Amino acid sequence: MTNLLELRGITSGYDKMQILWEPDIHVADGECVLILGSNGAGKTTLLKSLVGLLPAWTGTIVLDGQAIHTHSVDQRIRAGISYVSELGIIPTLSIEDNLKLGAFYVPAQERAQRLREMYDQFPILAEKRRGLGSSLSGGHRKVLSTAKALMSRPRLLVMDEPSAGLSPLLVAEIISILQELHTEGLSMIIAEQNVKFLDIADRVYVLDSGRIGFSGTVQELKDDDAIQRAYFGVTRHG
Ligand code: ATP
Repeated sequence: MTNLLELRGITSGYDKMQILWEPDIHVADGECVLILGSNGAGKTTLLKSLVGLLPAWTGTIVLDGQAIHTHSVDQRIRAGISYVSELGIIPTLSIEDNLKLGAFYVPAQERAQRLREMYDQFPILAEKRRGLGSSLSGGHRKVLSTAKALMSRPRLLVMDEPSAGLSPLLVAEIISILQELHTEGLSMIIAEQNVKFLDIADRVYVLDSGRIGFSGTVQELKDDDAIQRAYFGVTRHG
């Protein structure tokens, strides 16, 4: 499998405070990669550096063979990266306008086609299309933010903590939507602290104070007692 995304030697942070310490990460074409880490581990900082919302101080980011670390956010979106932040939607806009924003660069006719596709895939959004984003429940907001990101037909979906603020039932619903997208072949990188997302991941990186503390398959993570103890406070044996 060829790598769709490669991050090498990325350092970044806020003012003089360094948060990322060269976490080397790659995503193969069609892979679902989980970045697991506790509060403050640097997950959001990593994703923001990837999508261009925060400048990387050093390092390279290559998407599909093209160096994008000097690209603007717009250019990275056009190159195929779509970002779902923790908030993800604009509550004061209608559901339809939120979706349209996700395909801002696409000609109107094509945008209308993509809207239809999203309404087919997520009927709840079709039903409430004229309502404001703020009228949606937490789970449906997450559906909207995901659909909005899909409107640009990304090569790589980048999601920051999709489980934030959701009940376990809604987390299960979001996981099932992401599983379906993964099965359709969409490449994804998901930052989470909720280990439930291991269910849909092909590989995992554990981020610890801006560094990679573990990298491997989900099975390797589950088999690693030291990692289980250090990061999750449990062991396989008790
Ligand atoms: P969480 O799950 O809490 O969002 P995270 O893994 O996403 O955690 P980050 O949000 O990337 O972690 O934060 C990493 C570190 O950077 C933390 O120490 C945080 O306090 C700090 N930090 C985050 N945003 C800023 C900012 N805008 N200015 C200064 N420091 C920041």
